[in-house]
Amino acid sequence: MNRIEQLRISGKLPSPKGVALTIMEISLRENATLSEVTKVVQTDPALSSRLLRLANSSAEASRPLASINDAVMRLGMVAVRQIAMGFSLVDQYHEETCQGFDYQGFWSHSLFMALASQELGRVIRIASPDDLFACGLLAQIGKLALGTAYPVDYAAILEQQASGEELLALERERLSVDHCEITAAILADCGIAKVLAEPIYYHEAPDLSDFSEGSRPYQLTHVFYQARRMADLGLAFEAERHSKISELLRLGGKIGLDVESFGELFDRVVQQWHEWSKLLKVLANPLPAFSVMTSAPLPRPEQEEPKTACKRVLLVEDEPTTRIMMEGVLHKLLGCKVYTAENGKDALTMALEVIPQIIITDWLMPVMDGLEFCRTLRATDWGQSIYVIMLTGVETEENIVEAFEAGVDDYVTKPMNIRALNARMRAALHYVNLLETWEYDRAQLKQFAADLAISNRRLEHTAMTDLLTGLPNRRAGMEALSRNWSASMRTGKPVAAMMIDVDLFKSINDRHGHAVGDQVLQEVAKAIQSSARKDDSVCRMGGEEFLLLCHDTDLQSALLAAERLRKMVKALKISIDGMDIQTSVSIGVAGREASMEDADDMILGADKALYAAKNAGRNQTCLFAQGRTHCT
Ligand code: GH3
Ligand code: MG
Ligand code: MG
Ligand code: MG
Repeated sequence: MNRIEQLRISGKLPSPKGVALTIMEISLRENATLSEVTKVVQTDPALSSRLLRLANSSAEASRPLASINDAVMRLGMVAVRQIAMGFSLVDQYHEETCQGFDYQGFWSHSLFMALASQELGRVIRIASPDDLFACGLLAQIGKLALGTAYPVDYAAILEQQASGEELLALERERLSVDHCEITAAILADCGIAKVLAEPIYYHEAPDLSDFSEGSRPYQLTHVFYQARRMADLGLAFEAERHSKISELLRLGGKIGLDVESFGELFDRVVQQWHEWSKLLKVLANPLPAFSVMTSAPLPRPEQEEPKTACKRVLLVEDEPTTRIMMEGVLHKLLGCKVYTAENGKDALTMALEVIPQIIITDWLMPVMDGLEFCRTLRATDWGQSIYVIMLTGVETEENIVEAFEAGVDDYVTKPMNIRALNARMRAALHYVNLLETWEYDRAQLKQFAADLAISNRRLEHTAMTDLLTGLPNRRAGMEALSRNWSASMRTGKPVAAMMIDVDLFKSINDRHGHAVGDQVLQEVAKAIQSSARKDDSVCRMGGEEFLLLCHDTDLQSALLAAERLRKMVKALKISIDGMDIQTSVSIGVAGREASMEDADDMILGADKALYAAKNAGRNQTCLFAQGRTHCT
């Protein structure tokens, strides 16, 4: 029997109780009805108000819902079941059984992730936002389960402060199971469909899944990954925020959100997080607006004024009287924070723990002497920049060369003379101060680089966007074209291009003025955008001309889509200042053909077809195939 089965049988796997359990049982029955579910929900006032809140947060809601009946209807059986389950777990597992497990932080993070998943789901429409809410809430539940089932062992694991793959490995080593596996088991028990549960399983490390790029599970995995990163930012300390923001903006860019729209989405999530936190009795710290976080001044490194801070000195000396005397000098006279050890071996352990800036070590000691200690220290990464002073007995040339070869920076002869020690320490402190300043500068440079990355991303977006319509511009369109073309060559799947031109647009300008013309262009752009599939590329080529690229689409389907779009534009009623303006477009369609040399040939074909459409009287779709144009 494996770990998960053991946990399940012993009742240690978190599972819904009470009302949530009843809802689950009902909804899994074949003849279940929504009104049965509604009745059960009504017996639980907390659940009722939470479901109402959720149903009302749906973007499409035109007027607020007041009855549970309506809320359940809007959400549907599956969403109600999943949400009830999530809430039931939040309520049950507040009790702090595992020392070192931050229960409040856990739920606060989970709630953030739930809301972020939901909002992202509204952008990438691949699953119902309500389902995504429930999944986000439970995506990390395995950690909680491990903390609850193995409070002592898990506390010891948490003490290691590991994260990511390292944490998973520790869990597997000590508990023979990791939190992702447990999450998957709990989700299965809760009746969450595999299409959602699998992406959750992989969301911590999307690269480990073998979902093909762009597929639904691939996109879902990334939604959860991104939601988790957003929650990380929501709960991060101020000084850590900067480093998280650039990754988030990159992820946002991948799903077509520029800095501003990602910021708006993030702020919406934060606002809901605060509202929900009261409902669920979960903490939610105040957060500044996203735009404020991106433009916040550089967080200063921790040591504000490195020069005056006291230095960490490790003193290694087996002889007690010398040790005590030197400890006094270093601490009282020079203001150092002194750690002591009696031989090289203990000193190594201590050094690893406190990472001293200066080490003063005796040469002759039992167990491990000063030379060996120094050599071992210099063989580590962290031991390179520590300033080491060796205490030597007789000052022979041979001795001194040996000590320097082992990696010491300086030496003082015994018996110890306080003035000599003082003088050597002055050099050591000078070195440490320089090092600190250098590290401080380096941290600032890193910060500048991060800031620069953010402004570059903004610039990049501006350079790729058409100001009037907000669509990608010609340059972005040409990049999309070459991407689509290569993908099609690689996979052998078809690709099609539509060249779209507004008919007699000049006369709209002439009759109503340029400003009205601009608004017409915006409306047409919106129509094209909305008729395109989420991952098709639309761009404004210039003037009143647009390009739409449809991947994995043959000529026949492209023609149908073009006709749909043409009719849609024709039916548009654009009212400006009380005037109804009608317009139409002509469309030329072409697909990749074996005889075409490159993407330009396809565009040329689409252009020819567009020209034919204009000649055939406009408000037409024509296509280009095998060197000839055809109009319907
Ligand atoms: P056809 O059906 O043959 O395409 O006729 P047309 O009038 O649309 O074609 P033409 O290419 O002669 O005119 C395009 C006009 O679009 C000319 C130009 O002034 C106008 N135009 C180009 N860019 C903009 C813009 O950004 N805003 C506005 N309002 N007009 C623009
Ligand atoms: Mg024209
Ligand atoms: Mg035109
Ligand atoms: Mg034109």
